[in-house]
Amino acid sequence: MDSNYDVLIIGGGVVGSAVAWQLAKTDLKTAVLEKEEDVSTGTTKANSGIVHAGYDAMPGTLKAKLNVRGNEMIHEIAPVLNFDFVNTGSLVLCFEEENRPGLQALLERGKTNGVPGLRIVEQEELRQMEPEISEDAICALYAPTAGVVDPFNMNVAFAENAADNGTAFFFNEPVTSLERTEDGWLVNGAYRAKILVNAAGVHADEIHNMACEQPIAIRPRRGEYFLFDKEAGSLARHVLFQQPTAAGKGILVTPTAHG
Ligand SMILES: Cc1cc2nc3c(=O)[nH]c(=O)nc-3n(C[C@H](O)[C@H](O)[C@H](O)COP(=O)(O)OP(=O)(O)OC[C@H]3O[C@@H](n4cnc5c(N)ncnc54)[C@H](O)[C@@H]3O)c2cc1C
Repeated sequence: MDSNYDVLIIGGGVVGSAVAWQLAKTDLKTAVLEKEEDVSTGTTKANSGIVHAGYDAMPGTLKAKLNVRGNEMIHEIAPVLNFDFVNTGSLVLCFEEENRPGLQALLERGKTNGVPGLRIVEQEELRQMEPEISEDAICALYAPTAGVVDPFNMNVAFAENAADNGTAFFFNEPVTSLERTEDGWLVNGAYRAKILVNAAGVHADEIHNMACEQPIAIRPRRGEYFLFDKEAGSLARHVLFQQPTAAGKGILVTPTAHG
């Protein structure tokens, strides 16, 4: 087995697989090392699948730029790679008049980030858009470009397309050691690469700490879901958020890409 690569990607979640998909368009010889038996076994297998519109990220940050561009790309990529994406749009709900300035601030931030079509909808229109919504909701920030994907199939789609185009995938291959070589890295004493991509998700700190002198520590957080049957699938038409607080995005209600 020839184990010399231009790029080794550590982790076959959505990030590692999307990087592999992009690199497979080049002449670089690329491989993915994944500690589990398949792709999409980490955080990617169990998230809300929301394709955020991009009003949440702070203007000027890389995240703000990539969120808006990433949203655009999902609209383009989903039909090409054949994974489920439903362009539901999203609504950030406002329940108190005193919280309206917060909604307005999100609108302004989104406009600065270049999010298309953002606007505030008032109660009457909101009820037409979401007939089952609480009567206490007085208005909402509407983001027409938001939607939901099937998160595991998106991951699989990136990986399969990369594999079809020459990327090697090694499963049950946890990265446990990294050594510097003259022109790159020796991984697990067996794989050589000029460039490493650390896409190990919540374990990215372990990889970082093998490679760098300044250690970092990731403290992962877990979410909880109530997953309803398809009978309830039409109750919410959009991704429904509360207004964010310092603690995060709060409770959300969302359709899944499977209804
Ligand atoms: C509850 C929840 C809801 C979320 N909802 C959304 C949402 O709606 N929309 C959104 O955009 N984001 C959402 N996110 C965030 C999103 O899920 C993550 O940002 C994304 O899945 C991260 O992908 P990843 O590829 O970096 O990580 P992962 O999917 O975790 O992949 C990392 C991979 O690396 C592998 N690995 C780890 N260590 C090693 C090692 N030493 N050697 C080899 N392989 C290794 C793992 O096995 C895994 O397969 C949510 C997150 C959570 C927790």
